[in-house]
Amino acid sequence: MQDYETVIGLEVHAQLKTASKLFCSCPAVFGAAPNEQVCEVCSGMPGALPRLNEKAVELAVKAGLALNCTINNYSLFSRKNYFYPDLPDGYQTSQFVPPVCENGYLNITLRGQSRRIGITRIHMENDAGKCVHVQDATLVDLNRAGTPLIEIVSEPDLRSAEEAAEFMRQIHAILVSIGATDGNMEEGSLRCDANVSLRPLGSQVFGTRTETKNINSFRNVQKAVEYEIARQRACLEDGESIVQETRLFDAARQLTQAMRSKENAHDYRYFPNPDLPPVLVAPEKVEQWRKELPELPAPRARRFVEKFGLAEDEAASLVSDKSAADYFEAAVALFPQGRRIAALMQTELLRECEAAGICAAAAKLGPADLAELAAMIDKGTISVRTAHEIFPELFARGGSPQDFVSERGLSQISDSGELEAAVDATLAENPAEVEAYRGGKSKLLSFFVGKVMGKTAGKANPALVNEMLRSKLG
Ligand code: ADP
Ligand code: MG
Ligand code: ZN
Repeated sequence: MQDYETVIGLEVHAQLKTASKLFCSCPAVFGAAPNEQVCEVCSGMPGALPRLNEKAVELAVKAGLALNCTINNYSLFSRKNYFYPDLPDGYQTSQFVPPVCENGYLNITLRGQSRRIGITRIHMENDAGKCVHVQDATLVDLNRAGTPLIEIVSEPDLRSAEEAAEFMRQIHAILVSIGATDGNMEEGSLRCDANVSLRPLGSQVFGTRTETKNINSFRNVQKAVEYEIARQRACLEDGESIVQETRLFDAARQLTQAMRSKENAHDYRYFPNPDLPPVLVAPEKVEQWRKELPELPAPRARRFVEKFGLAEDEAASLVSDKSAADYFEAAVALFPQGRRIAALMQTELLRECEAAGICAAAAKLGPADLAELAAMIDKGTISVRTAHEIFPELFARGGSPQDFVSERGLSQISDSGELEAAVDATLAENPAEVEAYRGGKSKLLSFFVGKVMGKTAGKANPALVNEMLRSKLG
């Protein structure tokens, strides 16, 4: 059987986090009633003139800087012509040549191995509206029409479904960390098209590719690419050739389906949009925006490893969620044991946040509260187990864990004077076991610990009970 190499290039679309649309002042927020956020410009009325949103340019340039691109001080908007019922202009206003950013790269790391993935270009464009299919009609909602997007086009440098998903994850983390997008994938703020082809291992020429459109989760990137690899392999092994086409991923059935034969750039009849002057970005402006960039996820993860002693994957997972990473930094500033804080976040806080569908910043239990909880565990005021048991309630009500534990009388008894009576009574009540223990059945220690815990309603500090029993039993 022939061995194949997989070649993948992604086109990632991100909705820019601007207050208004790309070429008009309609709000660019999600969730309004249909056609509430529409004007002459974004509904394509004849003669209406577009005006470029500067914030969108700033966010596109910042994305380019974060992805190591060259920023073009001169770029153009073109018309990319096609017909869709939800594209009122009859063309998309997009950047063709030159785009605002090009020639960048992103390093992705999988199992400790780093690989550089080229970024061909980043361009700005407006989004289409959407068709809503009802019983026997199709309705058009133009709220989304004209919202600003950037499209990030990768070089065909990715070599597996796993790499493609990781690329998408890192793009997401970077764009969210610089505030370029809200990154809400369920609402379509970040989606990608996956171009996939196979070629005989060792071959220098690329095989024919298919392009799977509108994939909107990390998991689906992986699934769609895996499906395409298997499908193309089966075709090639049957001696069939791959048809260059556009396909759609059906998430429910976990497969891709042919949608249309693939168009080429010349089919769009691109030409410079006569209604928009060239986009001129002064070098000083670029420098100013570069200075405004926050620390990016990769260096941040390195810092978490070096400064707080986190494991690499622990740090990587924290920085992939900016809100969680910020929360971590605020908590660790108050209780400087990074691993304890990270562990509490991973096993308790982020789990509850996910269940509640909120980000760490929105949790009522703030970083100071979590730091207090970590300190209580550290001092032995409560056990890790008690912390786990009370966490859902702490999370739901927020506020000081110390107050909660005192109110409920959940503090561990860590004072040997207070535990003495319970320990003595346990030994007095179980003379046979005491004798057996002294005769060599040292496993009985846990039996005594259990009895003492029973007498103290589970509040005795187990380490202390162990120590007291050992010394009394000799
Ligand atoms: P378009 O899809 O708009 O026609 P391009 O030809 O520039 O645009 O390619 C888009 C994407 O397809 C890029 O991410 C590129 O890396 C990727 N690509 C190009 N050729 C191949 C190939 N043979 N196999 C896999 N990906 C490819
Ligand atoms: Mg494409
Ligand atoms: Zn508008």
